[in-house]
Amino acid sequence: MNNPDFDAPAPQSDVVQAHAVCENTPIKVLLIDDQALIGEAVRRMLMGHEGIEFHFVSEAALALPTAVEFQPTVILQDLMMPDADGFDLVKAFRADPATMHVPIIVLSAKEDAGVKAQGFTVGANDYLIKLPDKLELIARIRYHSAAYMHRLQRDAAFRQLHDSENKLAIANAELKKMAAMDGLTGIANRRQFDEVLKMEWRRGMRSGKPLSLLLCDIDFFKLYNDTHGHPAGDTCLKKVAVVLADNMKRPGDLAARYGGEEFVIILPETDTEGALRVAEECRRQIEALALSNPKSEVAAVATISIGVASLLPTTTHVCADLIEFSDQALYSAKSSGRNRVVRFAG
Ligand code: GH3
Ligand code: MG
Ligand code: MG
Repeated sequence: MNNPDFDAPAPQSDVVQAHAVCENTPIKVLLIDDQALIGEAVRRMLMGHEGIEFHFVSEAALALPTAVEFQPTVILQDLMMPDADGFDLVKAFRADPATMHVPIIVLSAKEDAGVKAQGFTVGANDYLIKLPDKLELIARIRYHSAAYMHRLQRDAAFRQLHDSENKLAIANAELKKMAAMDGLTGIANRRQFDEVLKMEWRRGMRSGKPLSLLLCDIDFFKLYNDTHGHPAGDTCLKKVAVVLADNMKRPGDLAARYGGEEFVIILPETDTEGALRVAEECRRQIEALALSNPKSEVAAVATISIGVASLLPTTTHVCADLIEFSDQALYSAKSSGRNRVVRFAG
């Protein structure tokens, strides 16, 4: 007989499975009964049965602390004890996280439907009249213990699954971050730029606000490498990236490495005037880094040329136009002397 509110009677196949799962795990029986005679009788019934550990407590007050320490797989509990209300003790087991799922078989001296019903109501799983038949007692102990251990294993598997899912989510987030990042400079890479530009273009179409693009190219960078070596060139690229990233003041602004010694900046909801201000500030700060480029034909230090284009995203253009226009502006900046900002003159 099982408590339908607690553990529904398991179909035969579940019981068999639970037995298989728990084959090597010891069954631990905790008996709580004020009569030492009952304790002794149950001990004898279980004696010689391999894989069954038995512990007896005669004082109700010790029942819960003993259970917490002994960790039974099934509790046999007397309902009528002089120093405690048996129903309250069942409730106490159910209320404690350490014992809340341990199956409880209540023991009573007489057959009484009302008492049985109340036992199940407060959380018991099964009911036996003292003293039960040895075979039946052992069968019930085995069945309830197996079901309990099966439950523990299932809970552990769920926890493990949950842990793995969490770890996977963290790893995926990290992977996504890395996939969007330029390996040398740590700022956004070309792929991320392409994605963000498309997204901002669509956003601009909805908001009706202009979108600006800055295409930046280091001047005479080949000569910088020739003078200082490729590793020093890499350091220069990193420093330029820091300046550009530091000048991204709004949450939607994005500085990305476009490739080689070219960088690109997306400024959403920004008109040409605003974009020119950001571009000029970037150009000025890069010059102020004072990274010597003695062979440069425009300055003694590393400098940058920037092409600026702004468009109101509409269906008359596509976002690739913005790249095309800023590239044309960059070409003008290069051909008109470098180390300067030039706006697209459509
Ligand atoms: P311009 O002013 O016309 O832009 O001249 P430039 O020398 O900067 O342009 P060019 O395209 O001739 O040369 C670009 C150089 O940038 C050549 C290439 O070796 C260097 N470069 C590209 N990527 C990297 C990189 O990741 N690290 C380093 N150190 N150099 C790079
Ligand atoms: Mg270039
Ligand atoms: Mg260049």
